Amino acid sequence: THFGFETIAESVKESRVASVFSSVAGSYDTMNDLMSLGIHRLWKDHFVRSLNPGTSSWTHTAGQAPQQKGWHILDIAGGTGDIAFRMLDHATNINKDNATKVTISDINPDMLAEGRKRALNGRYAGTGRLNFVEANAEKLDMIADESVDLYTVAFGIRNFTHKEAALREAFRVLKPGGVFACLEFSKVNNPLFDAVYKRWSFAAIPLIGQVVAGDRDSYQYLVESIERFPSQTEFRDMIRDAGFLIPKGPDGDGFENLTNGIAAIHKGIKP
Ligand code: SAM
Repeated sequence: THFGFETIAESVKESRVASVFSSVAGSYDTMNDLMSLGIHRLWKDHFVRSLNPGTSSWTHTAGQAPQQKGWHILDIAGGTGDIAFRMLDHATNINKDNATKVTISDINPDMLAEGRKRALNGRYAGTGRLNFVEANAEKLDMIADESVDLYTVAFGIRNFTHKEAALREAFRVLKPGGVFACLEFSKVNNPLFDAVYKRWSFAAIPLIGQVVAGDRDSYQYLVESIERFPSQTEFRDMIRDAGFLIPKGPDGDGFENLTNGIAAIHKGIKP
């Protein structure tokens, strides 16, 4: 605005997001399990299966042995690497693809440090298949235009200050035919279930945050950020407005509800 209020509010929001994730980095996975009763694992598994990373990653040139070229996956707000490890496991075990690589990008150095620690102790250590980039999703200068086959963002975009800017960057870095895929909390589509869910999220989650992680405020923020995030169709329209083609989804164009819409998967294809 003329008075700069928006700028002040935005910088407060960004530092708030930074301190929330610095504070939760160490307890992040335990807290996810407790808050979602373990269901976030099923959602993430389903998300990755639906994208089938590493499929058709072989190139055939006449007269030469087939070569595996793999996918370049960019996992934005990748945090501790939860999605990235699943992507590589799926590519390797299901599609027998050892060439697919994932770039994990996050704005928060503490979350990335947790991810790096896991990578060093994990099965992809020394394979060159994982790399880490500290960046704001709204400004991915270090990622070249049209260099990415699959852009993923799981439980990240609701924290971004300028979601449209992040969608524009996703569009820029994807190759033509590349896929944008988002897993995020969304709007529950059944009123009775919604009442139970709201009680759980507004009462239990901040309490679990306080008791387990000693941090009520961060978890209160997480619940409120879920509440403020656009509905399935509003978010689908934002993806379309960024230039993506919207594929048919199981629950409407462009999206699939998980657990009655507690979470949803959105997809877009760069033409
Ligand atoms: N994708 C992981 C998962 O599903 O477990 C982590 C999700 S965590 C709830 C949200 C992540 O978004 C945090 O690691 C946070 O640092 C990151 N984040 C918040 N704002 C961001 C931004 N503007 N750009 C990039 N990452 C951001």
